[in-house]
Amino acid sequence: MAHAPAYDIRHIEHANPVPSATREQAIADPGFGTLFTDHMVRIDWHEEKGWHDPRMMARGPIALDPSASVLHYAQEIFEGLKAYRHPDGSLALFRPEENARRFNRSAARLAMPELPEEAFIESIRALVEKDRDWFPSVEGGSLYIRPFMIATEAFLGVRPAKEYAFLTILSPAGGYFKSGAPAISIRVAEHYTRAAPGGTGFAKCGGNYAASLVPQGEALASGHDQVVFLDAVERKWIEELGGMNLFFVFDDGRMVTPPLTDTILPGITRDSILTLAREEGLDVVEDRYAIDQWREDAESGKLVETLACGTAAVVTPVGKVTAEDYDFTIGSGGPGQLTQKLRSQLVGIQNGTVEDRHGWITKV
Ligand code: PMP
Repeated sequence: MAHAPAYDIRHIEHANPVPSATREQAIADPGFGTLFTDHMVRIDWHEEKGWHDPRMMARGPIALDPSASVLHYAQEIFEGLKAYRHPDGSLALFRPEENARRFNRSAARLAMPELPEEAFIESIRALVEKDRDWFPSVEGGSLYIRPFMIATEAFLGVRPAKEYAFLTILSPAGGYFKSGAPAISIRVAEHYTRAAPGGTGFAKCGGNYAASLVPQGEALASGHDQVVFLDAVERKWIEELGGMNLFFVFDDGRMVTPPLTDTILPGITRDSILTLAREEGLDVVEDRYAIDQWREDAESGKLVETLACGTAAVVTPVGKVTAEDYDFTIGSGGPGQLTQKLRSQLVGIQNGTVEDRHGWITKV
């Protein structure tokens, strides 16, 4: 099908030749987040001109004035999604319009300009098409897509900047968890919170992740894969992991996930799991769930599975939970049946081996 982009990304510069070993390495053993393709897309915003000058260029360092607002007041937002390869060799995006919408909700909270959805999607589409031969050859490989926006105005006053840049880069990706473990082990953040009511927890802004590095680092240092955050007010209600949302599965066919408040990142995987689980006939409710209840239900056997979900790790079982004074195991500590079923459905839709009944796939 001929594609006539509604939003034209001008190709202004050819990439500097990248040593072929780099691309070969990226394709054969991509890891996560350290290797990048050789182009990027950029669109600038100016208070008077609005969004202008969309362009594709060689990936490389970006020039910023040392007083640029992003460097001082952290006006920065980002997104994360993947391009998947279908059996016919075509590349596909999973619900990119949802990322575009979430990006604009983040922009609004950070006093940044909203980007037309078509500019967001066309930037990604054009870049993935351009660098498609960086697609990893490894099982489960994908091209991880990182669109982001930064405040570029040179000005030190504390107010919203009047100039911004939107950029998109690509990184070939293999698996996410280093251990490749079938179930993850998580640490309860008892001394830190991630987001407070009225704050920026629902926005995908860099600052949220800066604040999560110490608790996440402590979890990793003590041998866990992820940290689970509790609410900031009562320090009791389960919110989410550092980079994933949670679902709890009970022996009576009920499934619970914390409701979307302004302290939780509204995951696109979470939303997709809600739909798929309901289609499986599960009674899925968005309701608060307390950390003590989680422990009690795991110990009594009422809780049979807990799954974590997000773009990077897709759907991953939680096997063990550790706090300062206790720990508990969920089910057998390994992957549960429903987790595996939902995972294979979602992965199948993304990879084009399961019918896309919901219109979630956008071909590149
Ligand atoms: N929570 C947080 C804090 C995240 O960073 C992410 C990753 N974007 C998620 C949840 C999962 O979101 P998604 O399913 O859209 O990747």
